Amino acid sequence: MGKFIIANWKMNMTNAGAKDFLDEFRPQTKNTVVICPPFTALTTVGAADGFAVGAQNMHYAENGAYTGEVSAEMLVELGVGYVLVGHSERRTKFVETDEFVINKAKAAISNEIVPVVCVGETKEEYQSGKTKDILSRQLSGLGQLDGEFIVAYEPVWAIGTGLVPTMEEIADIHVFIRGITKAPILYGGSVTDKNAGEIMAIPNVDGVLVGGAALCPNKFTGIINAAN
Ligand code: PEP
Repeated sequence: MGKFIIANWKMNMTNAGAKDFLDEFRPQTKNTVVICPPFTALTTVGAADGFAVGAQNMHYAENGAYTGEVSAEMLVELGVGYVLVGHSERRTKFVETDEFVINKAKAAISNEIVPVVCVGETKEEYQSGKTKDILSRQLSGLGQLDGEFIVAYEPVWAIGTGLVPTMEEIADIHVFIRGITKAPILYGGSVTDKNAGEIMAIPNVDGVLVGGAALCPNKFTGIINAAN
């Protein structure tokens, strides 16, 4: 299986900023590269060649009274092939539950969008040895998914902090998740062009989900090249 290298731009990049990024970004790889920009830059990013476009969020309902939300059908219309669901920032800042996350994943699959189901423990949960319990709970709905999906393991304490678990810890958690699902399992949390090669060489690490380092064309290209 090839690797997945997925960029999560979060609430960064105007449409003009996305165009500037794309002017400099020419990935050369047989692996799968996906960029998840804000909704406002989906069309611009989706029009570029050499990689796929993903969304950072969607609602599970088909349509209706959900002010500010976007449905799977609306994303499909823009050529979106992937969607992040359950990112820790959505779970904490927007109070998304495991049930809500799995409902989004189901709706994505029904519309032929591949959901990237994000899971991970907080610093307190890590320090008190509860990581696997938390992951078991967050992944308990995967059996309801009938179609292609991806899991992204992102320790919350590693996101945007420069902190990364040891390679042994990543290996151990990925073996644990592999016991739950055969789907591709990505690692996310402070991945850079310096550590991406070592992380992607770990067994059961099928790629990476990248935040900050994916905002710079050179750094993101370095991460992609580390998988080649
Ligand atoms: C993320 O938010 O999914 C992420 C991995 O961020 P960063 O790479 O900046 O830690």
